[in-house]
Amino acid sequence: MELIRNEKRLHVLISGASIAGLSTAYWLTKYGFDITIVERAAHIRPGGQAVDVRGPALEVAEKMGILGIIRENSTKLKGMSIVDAVSGSEIYSTHEQTLTGGRHDSPDVEILRDDLCKVLFDAVDNHAKYIFNDTIVTIDQDDQAVNVTFATAKPQRFDLVIGADGIRSNVRKIVFGADEQFIRYLGHYVAIFTMPNYFELDHWEMIFQYEGTPVAVCIAKEKESEARTYLGFSSELPLEYDHRDIDAQKRLITERATDLCGKISKIKELMQGSSNFYFDSVNQTIMDNWAKGRIVLVGDAGYSVSLSLGQSTSVAIVGAYVLAGELAAHHDDLRTAFGNYEKELREYIIKNQSLAFETSNEPQQTQEIPGQTSEEDSTTGSADLPDFGLSVIPLVLKNYSQHLNNGPQL
Ligand SMILES: Cc1cc2nc3c(=O)[nH]c(=O)nc-3n(C[C@H](O)[C@H](O)[C@H](O)COP(=O)(O)OP(=O)(O)OC[C@H]3O[C@@H](n4cnc5c(N)ncnc54)[C@H](O)[C@@H]3O)c2cc1C
Repeated sequence: MELIRNEKRLHVLISGASIAGLSTAYWLTKYGFDITIVERAAHIRPGGQAVDVRGPALEVAEKMGILGIIRENSTKLKGMSIVDAVSGSEIYSTHEQTLTGGRHDSPDVEILRDDLCKVLFDAVDNHAKYIFNDTIVTIDQDDQAVNVTFATAKPQRFDLVIGADGIRSNVRKIVFGADEQFIRYLGHYVAIFTMPNYFELDHWEMIFQYEGTPVAVCIAKEKESEARTYLGFSSELPLEYDHRDIDAQKRLITERATDLCGKISKIKELMQGSSNFYFDSVNQTIMDNWAKGRIVLVGDAGYSVSLSLGQSTSVAIVGAYVLAGELAAHHDDLRTAFGNYEKELREYIIKNQSLAFETSNEPQQTQEIPGQTSEEDSTTGSADLPDFGLSVIPLVLKNYSQHLNNGPQL
């Protein structure tokens, strides 16, 4: 397949301006591609709780020259407390680790999802064109190019289209088919939202635990800042609801997440006023192929690992690096570029997804309830907490630096 060169630069459309889309845009602009990003939200979508940059994603962030900025903007949580979701009383606290970020002495970085998006957006700088508040409506490809129409913007012709539009990917739906074919439901639902820092957390995480499983997690970077909260429930079967109707989703979580104690009721009450609200089932994206002709998927759109290990962000950063590198190396032969992209990543993705699948089927054990409050750091209990260091799947990254036009020194 021959690629058309438009003023010597390949014209690429990326759908989705989050972790996968912005990371891919960063690398492709460094390799000299002409990038347009369409994002459904009015700007970089705010919201989300903490995500983690771990393992090979740390190496990619270092190559991008943003690891230092990511560390500066990290959550810097000092520790966590575990609260009995029935009695509402604290049963354990530690300054050594958090449930979401792991041990403080690990090299991993925990950062709020939208803080990471902002770092990536700044790194792309003005090298990409953005179409906000819009979405792709049709995609028609032939041997020469891809014709794309949008809900609002004028139709355009691109050399290739990259779907980085998340677990419910629009590009995947249009080009590959309905969600049901590719989404593996893992039995849980989560709402992630911003609320006032009612519990006055200061660089602290508070976990509400019921029968060994966290049902709500609140974190706040500072006492004065808002709290980012996760509230979840399990459901054996997937539920029918309108994915675009936020009020209906708030009603659903209010009904289904049990009011185990007054503190959980308060969280639900505060959730009603939240403007940054994200709700979805916990899923994985399982696909045999991530590319079709001139269309390719990256991040959750092609291979979501799921929220259960917090690993999807690192996988998306790594996936973006490999996809962009292979495109830079084989820009005149898309079949080889996409084939290599899959070859480099497939095993890494399968291992990550298997681990997350196993974890989500076990209760997410935090800490045995000892029946008494421990105000001191407890090192005895920490062995029961998940060690995310163990969930890092290694990957030897190929070096694509010879294709950089104006990139950072690697
Ligand atoms: C608001 C939000 C909050 C999240 N919170 C957490 C969290 O707390 N913890 C966690 O582990 N993971 C969270 N995630 C998921 C996490 O960001 C991803 O699993 C991971 O970072 C991989 O990112 P991604 O870029 O592939 O997908 P996503 O981060 O899901 O990004 C997809 C992007 O595509 C955009 N988009 C969707 N549909 C369209 C369309 N039709 N046209 C154009 N653009 C579109 C979305 O607005 C979004 O910007 C959240 C995602 C979102 C969107």
